[in-house]
Amino acid sequence: MKQLAIIYVFLFGISVAHAQHVSIKKDTITTTKDTLVLSIQNNMLSPMFFKVKVKDVGAKNFKYLEKIVLQPLEKRENYMKIPRKKIDTTQGLKLSGYFDFVVAYGDPSVASHNDSYVYLLPYKKKRKLIQGNFGRFSHDHIRSYHAYDFGTKIGDTIYAAREGKVVLIKEDSNKHGRTRKFANDGNFIIIQHDDGTTASYYHLDFNGALVKNGDIVARGQKIGISGMTGFTTTPHLHFVVHEATEKDGNISVPIQFEGYEGKKLKKGRKYARRKR
Ligand SMILES: [Zn+2]
Repeated sequence: MKQLAIIYVFLFGISVAHAQHVSIKKDTITTTKDTLVLSIQNNMLSPMFFKVKVKDVGAKNFKYLEKIVLQPLEKRENYMKIPRKKIDTTQGLKLSGYFDFVVAYGDPSVASHNDSYVYLLPYKKKRKLIQGNFGRFSHDHIRSYHAYDFGTKIGDTIYAAREGKVVLIKEDSNKHGRTRKFANDGNFIIIQHDDGTTASYYHLDFNGALVKNGDIVARGQKIGISGMTGFTTTPHLHFVVHEATEKDGNISVPIQFEGYEGKKLKKGRKYARRKR
């Protein structure tokens, strides 16, 4: 009998670095020999929007919530019920074989970016913009079109571009690589703003967070140390502001920086902190 086979729930395969943000697990209390029951847990201190889109017909036998807004750190039991007879779990359950996942940091019903906000450059000294908005290397998705890759050096101090609350940190990685399979190895800090949007500061150094989960940070406060972790070929800071939407999950939004209002930052140029 294979009743006791370990159930692996793989999430987000190769494309998104969300494995730390949300956990989907076997619900040990309600799972029976006939039905595998999964719970879902938001690991962030912000609300989270989560949606599944069916990609394999096998999922028609599953019972689940198609869309869900989870409160900070909320765990929801009975999120998904899967009749065991309909699936083969001998190799583990690869949920991403049945569904595409759409995730957003925040509640789509309240998140709305304040486009008049002027962000501080998140570092001080002159650094080259190595990939700008719509960059073809990796800023090629609705989640990343409006992202910036600043060529900060390992050890550079990173500052909050906007005030807010620290809602998720990862700083335990010292790995990097040239392919998307390293995407989950990037250290990061995510800060939620008062308009419900979030800023993500990626590729930070090992133990490179100078703030803690739940901290309220001021604009310009030191928050981290730049590094080279995750999916990257060179030290840099990936900076992006996201708005939560029901349709597409996190979408990146266009922003402006102090000293460069109304200007488009160009790839290959150097930019330093500048007063308006
Ligand atoms: Zn980037």
